[in-house]
Amino acid sequence: MAEITKKTAVTKPLNQEPINDLANVESDFKKLDARSQYYYLRKLKPFKRAVKFVSLSHQKQKDLLAFRKQNRSQKSKPKTDFNEENIFEVRNFNLWYNNGDKQALFDINFDIKKNKVTALIGPSGCGKSTFLRNLNRMHDLDNSIITEGDIWFNGENINSKKYSLMELRTKVGMVFQKPTPFNMSIYDNIAFGPKNHGIKDKNTLDNIVKESLMDAALWEDVKNDLQAPATSLSGGQQQRLCIARSIALKPDVLLMDEPTSALDPIATGKIERLIKKLSDKVTIVIVTHSMAQAQRISDNTVFFLKGKVIEANTTKKIFTRPKTKELRHYLNGDENNDQ
Ligand code: ADP
Repeated sequence: MAEITKKTAVTKPLNQEPINDLANVESDFKKLDARSQYYYLRKLKPFKRAVKFVSLSHQKQKDLLAFRKQNRSQKSKPKTDFNEENIFEVRNFNLWYNNGDKQALFDINFDIKKNKVTALIGPSGCGKSTFLRNLNRMHDLDNSIITEGDIWFNGENINSKKYSLMELRTKVGMVFQKPTPFNMSIYDNIAFGPKNHGIKDKNTLDNIVKESLMDAALWEDVKNDLQAPATSLSGGQQQRLCIARSIALKPDVLLMDEPTSALDPIATGKIERLIKKLSDKVTIVIVTHSMAQAQRISDNTVFFLKGKVIEANTTKKIFTRPKTKELRHYLNGDENNDQ
């Protein structure tokens, strides 16, 4: 099995220093380099941004515009050295909440292997969900979030203006912590996405519904009553229905944010077996707070701490040969991981 190598997992391009703390650059604004100025200006409202921009010297304005142009054109070009074994390559990715006041992700660099299960682990609040949501641009509507850096999906930059959100969300589906079935029948929950994509033929829809429910190990439970309301199913069944709804669109990737945390152990076991089975066809990235679950179902594991990726490796190595003291402390259950 290909592993996330140390080189690809944690290195940073030599020429890129972390950008300045966006919350605290106001007084030094004019002294910053073009890159930091650009990200600082992005957090401002248009009028204030314009005032700040014109306060710069002519040369600084030119540098800033040149940086913006280069940044945009870099995002719109495919990544020529994208590794075929990967589905995502994340490079120098930073994220700030609240218009730059709170940085939640710091210089994230690692690869996600195609058709494998990758678990994201780490203490509560370390940025796992924040990171996961960026893989299908769940943050798109929140203008107070600022990101820097690149997320490459099959060689394309998902934050390029050329990349359509609809296309991305079709290829990268999401399953949430709590089951979120639509308030409609089991059948309609699954047929909803394909219908939205223009499929009208009843036989085709019937086949998609059956195949998706079979793939999600739910067909036997519901085949005699597909018109029953989805909300009549148990929590575990509802979660499998949500998985079936996602796979009806034949995604390349399924993102799962603690998909079993609201379920009992039996329902959890079913979802875990389903994840293992699905990974033949779909890449799965799962946030889990359960170390046991990560070990049972994932091929690779990424350990986050305080918004940073501390280690990324095969799950076996993460749990048997942790390299950093931070990961060793975490695996030993040391709550106060402050080193
Ligand atoms: P995890 O999934 O590891 O528990 P999160 O990604 O939910 O962590 O949170 C990472 C950090 O970002 C936390 O400090 C959290 O408080 C903060 N955060 C999460 N969502 C928001 C938000 N919408 N606005 C501001 N801060 C947020």
